[in-house]
Amino acid sequence: MLCIMQIDNNELAIRQNELDRAGHKKEAYEMKMEFLRQVRESGDHCPCKEACPHHGNCFECVTIHRGHRDHLPMCMWDMINERLHALSLLTEGSLMEYEKKCAGCAGCTGDCG
Ligand code: SF4
Repeated sequence: MLCIMQIDNNELAIRQNELDRAGHKKEAYEMKMEFLRQVRESGDHCPCKEACPHHGNCFECVTIHRGHRDHLPMCMWDMINERLHALSLLTEGSLMEYEKKCAGCAGCTGDCG
C-alpha cells in the first residue's frame, strides 16, 4: 500500500516538537504518539526506491547505516540537503561548481580542499 501521509514537515510533528521545547511534555508526548499512530496506519512510508530487503524497516535501515557510516538513509537526505543548501548560500551558490571541479580529479579522495 502506498503512503499518502506527508511525514516530512508534518504539522503534528512540528507542533509536538514546539510543545516539547516549551516544556509541555505530556501534551507533546500524546501528540507524538498520535503522529506515530498515523504513520503506522499510513502504509509504505519509505521513499527509498532501492530494491532492498529492509525497505520500510527503519530499525534495520538506520542500524545498518549507523554501522557502515558511509551515508544516511535516503529519507533523511532532503532534510540534510535543506540545511546544506542554506549553508551553501554563504558561498553564493558556488558549491555546485566546487563539486563538479572536485569530482573531475583523477584519484580524488575528496580531501583536496
Ligand atoms: S529509515 Fe530507511 S527504511 Fe525507514 S523510511 Fe528511511 S530510508 Fe526508509
